[in-house]
Order: sequence, then structure tokens, then C-alpha cells
Amino acid sequence: MDHRELVELDHQYVMQTYGRFDVDIDHGQGATLYDLAGKEYIDFSSGIGVNSIGYANPKWVEAITNQAQKLGHISNLFYSQPYAQLAEKLCKRSGMAAAFFGNSGAEANEGMIKLARKYSFDKYGKGRGTILTLRNSFHGRTITTLTATGQDVFHNYFFPFNDGFRYAQAGSMDSLQEVAGHDVCAVMLELVQGEGGVLPMDPEYVHDLAVLCAERDWLLLVDEVQTGVGRTGTLFAFQQYGIIPDAVSFAKGIAGGLPMGGILANERCRNVLGPGTHASTFGGNPICAAAAQVVLDTLDEDALAQVTEKGNYIRTRIEHMGLSSLGTTRGLGMMIGVEVRGEESNKALAARLVQNGLLVLTAGKDLRLLPPLTISMAEIDKGLAIMKETLL
Ligand SMILES: *Cc1c(COP(=O)(O)O)cnc(C)c1O
Repeated sequence: MDHRELVELDHQYVMQTYGRFDVDIDHGQGATLYDLAGKEYIDFSSGIGVNSIGYANPKWVEAITNQAQKLGHISNLFYSQPYAQLAEKLCKRSGMAAAFFGNSGAEANEGMIKLARKYSFDKYGKGRGTILTLRNSFHGRTITTLTATGQDVFHNYFFPFNDGFRYAQAGSMDSLQEVAGHDVCAVMLELVQGEGGVLPMDPEYVHDLAVLCAERDWLLLVDEVQTGVGRTGTLFAFQQYGIIPDAVSFAKGIAGGLPMGGILANERCRNVLGPGTHASTFGGNPICAAAAQVVLDTLDEDALAQVTEKGNYIRTRIEHMGLSSLGTTRGLGMMIGVEVRGEESNKALAARLVQNGLLVLTAGKDLRLLPPLTISMAEIDKGLAIMKETLL
């Protein structure tokens, strides 16, 4: 099958919910991908922050293969080793107390929302189920997580949306106080807003917010679906902010490309979701859990330090390219936003970069780079050279 035939097949039989680039991807190795015609692409996108340890990592392939030969699925009504060992690794390295596993980011956030509402219900009864989220946030595509998302463009078509969310201006304690009330049980935020434009939160604001949550007995819920699993240079971004969330969600990068998501709860919240209150048929799948263990083992302290170094290197190099279409950079670790200036939109720039062999993402009005965390320096330099040639 060639590219044209594939596009025709897709358009005939697949719901056209995505604005796809006119490129297909067939296989990959490290942070390098190839299309059906064999053309090479450097990947600065990792899917969307998913392929955390690149493509065809031998240990990841081996773990998946071995687990598939042993046990591909078993219901959560039975104990099984891979997810229990994964939970141990996650808790030990994050300082959290217990894990719940699902399959995606939106589902993980739904779990956190349920956890917060039940914590409050158990302690205070009904009428205290409102969750405060931030303007410009993104929390997922289910009805509830769309409602939680603090961007009006997402609150369309699918009426009725849910009650129980109010939005505050990111970075402003005054704005948070304005929307506060006796009906609030939690605040949910991303420490670096991803889809909203790669916007890191101010540490002082995050600290003040955590203090306010503790005072009001609101749960502090951190959506680390994009920032988690090493993306920002620590296993979770909250570890750089000096806070201990009540619950954290993760997904995207956790299993290196297989679908998995989940939540971690701290000691006081570990038993809020008791037997029968929350579940997922596929959650904690043994193959995904085996893959995730390889991801965590690969992202040791040394690899995480390199995430920060490589992220800084990429940002410095881009800022010194002298391109009229790109401005300053921002972000944390290898979660990078690049300001787009001038006439051409970020989408148009991204399409040209992709056509020339560099996969990038957009966020807000800017470019977003989420390279595989294990990308080699040679691949980084190759990608940056494509960027320079394309945009010069
Ligand atoms: C991607 C993302 C989600 C949604 O994850 P899905 O796996 O697509 O459901 C939620 N929150 C944040 C911060 C994300 O970046």
C-alpha cells in the first residue's frame, strides 16, 4: 500500500475527527521514524508525549513479548504481579502511597474527580462536590473532563455539560478566592499547562495554592498526564514544586506507547475509593504494566538529569538560530514551548517542518516539542538542522 491508497482507505472508513498531517508513519527506531516510502523523520513529538523511551526499545519489546506469551489479560478480580510491581515502583519513586490503574488520561482525571468528591462526601456529606480548575487548562475529552477543562472552545456542541466546576485565572490567588465557596472539595491543575500552550506555573503560586487547599480541606489534584513520567526532568513535575498532592494523574508516557493511565493517592487518600466504588475492565493490563516497568527502569536518575540537560540544549539552540518566525522558548525539561512570530501560523509552520522530516506539535498559538526522553544528541542535532533549514 502506498501513501495515497492509505489516505483513501482512511477517508472512506475512519471517522474524520483528526486534522491529520499528510504523512503516514510505518515504523521507528530510537527517536527516528520512517513512512511507508522509507522517508526518515526525526521525532520531536513522541506521539503526543507518549513514546517516552522512543521506538522499538529492545527491553520494552522483550518485556511486552514475554508478558504476551505468559498472560495478556486477567480481570482485576484476581491478583497479578505486573501491576502490583509497577504500583510499588511508582509509589517508591513519587512518595505517594497507592495507585489505581486505568487506560487513558481523561479516565485518570475522572478517577481523581471521583476520589475528591468521595473524600468530601465521606467527611462532609452532600453539597461539597465542586472542583476548581484553571483557565487554559486541558483535562480530557469525556463530558466531565471537558467540563473541567478551563477553555470555552471545548464547551460546545455536547450540551448539557456537567455541574460542579468553576474556573480561576492561572497564577492568581485572588481569582481563586473569587470562585471559592463552601461547595468546593478540590482544586485540579497542571503544573505546566500542556495543550493550553506549555505554560509553567509560578512556584510561589503553587505553594500558596497548596497552603490554601490545606486550610480549607480541599484536595490538591495534580493532572500529570502530560508532565508526568520524566517529561519535566523529575519523575513527576510536583517533585520540583515542593508540594505533596493528594492525588496525581498520569497516562501518556507511562507505558512507552501502550494505553495506560492511572492515579496515585497520598497516605490520607489511599483508601477513599474502597471496594466497588471505582473500577476499570482493562485497567492495570499485564502487558501495559510490564512495559511501564521498563519505562520507569529506563528513566533512572541519570536519564532524568539528561532530560533537563537536553531540554535546555534544545531551547538554547533554537533561541540562537536567529529565525524570524520563532521567538523565545519556555517549559520544563523536555516539555518545550516555542513562540511563533510573524505571518505564518503555528499549524502552517508545523506542517512544513513535518513535510521536511521533523515531527513537532502545536499548543495554543505556538509550537510544542515533546521529544522521546531518550533521544540521542545526534538525533537532536539532526532535528534542529531540519528546523533551521526549513524556517530560515
Ligand atoms: C492528554 C491530556 C489529557 C487526556 O489524556 P487522554 O489519554 O487523551 O484521555 C488530560 N490531561 C492532560 C494534561 C493531557 O495533556
